[in-house]
Amino acid sequence: MLTLHTIAELRAELGQARRAGRRIGLVPTMGALHAGHRSLIRAARGQCEVVVVSIFVNPTQFGPAEDFERYPRPLEKDLDACRAEGVDVAFCPSVEEVYPAGEVTRVTVSRLTEVLCGPCRPGHFEGVTTVVAKLINMVQPDVMYLGQKDAQQAVVLGRMVRDLRLPVDVVVCPTVREPDGLALSSRNAYLDAAQRRQATSLYAALTAARERIERGERDSAVLVEGMRRRIEGAGPCVIEYISIVDAEDLSARSRLSGRCLMALAVRIGATRLIDNVVLDVPECAR
Ligand code: AMP
Repeated sequence: MLTLHTIAELRAELGQARRAGRRIGLVPTMGALHAGHRSLIRAARGQCEVVVVSIFVNPTQFGPAEDFERYPRPLEKDLDACRAEGVDVAFCPSVEEVYPAGEVTRVTVSRLTEVLCGPCRPGHFEGVTTVVAKLINMVQPDVMYLGQKDAQQAVVLGRMVRDLRLPVDVVVCPTVREPDGLALSSRNAYLDAAQRRQATSLYAALTAARERIERGERDSAVLVEGMRRRIEGAGPCVIEYISIVDAEDLSARSRLSGRCLMALAVRIGATRLIDNVVLDVPECAR
């Protein structure tokens, strides 16, 4: 595996592969790799001849009061994980390489970023779309792999790729969970033992709502209220939002039908957790 730090090295290396017609897959990450990231890498490994994993803690997607400084950066461990998964290139650029001195350019996706996590994290999605547009431009992959765990991010990036006519396919891989249902996240490491137990309430609430939908419930407000009670009942927390929206355009749904995204963000102590479930809801109601 090659570990590269500059765009020039990356271009030189991948140019050869591209000219030889080899299919290049990109897995963009912020490191602190866990089984969720590894599932994306495996999907890429299974479908592409050259697998590139970027490891870059992107400063522009963190708010001023967020955890950029303390975000985990276990680089050697991450490189070992990449080697174990058969990654070809780990791309670990510096902040200056990605954001040259004096840079003033941003990529913005409107509307889709104004709901769910958008209002709670001003500027976050602009940071994400800007860095991913840069990474796509640097790597020029045939396919990019994203996780369903960050459902809104996947929708926003899919739209950016479509709107900017970027020549890359986007593959969204299922959320990988702990045995008790908690979605794997680098931020789970911040939770103490009691908070970790409490955190299972997020997926438990989503699962209970899904079961109610399967039994015929179609009223979004009823389902959201049920999830809120369940999560608040599990312990002290701040619910940022619990929403049911159209899975493609993220517009609000008061009555469920078609492909729906149930998504939530909850703060337990200082740790912000998100989770979601997508489901196809048949038209028929009770
Ligand atoms: P991050 O390092 O948090 O920026 O995540 C990098 C990629 O891994 C994103 O596309 C995430 O959606 C994806 N990812 C993170 N956690 C999971 C998970 N539990 N299951 C599947 N994909 C995930």
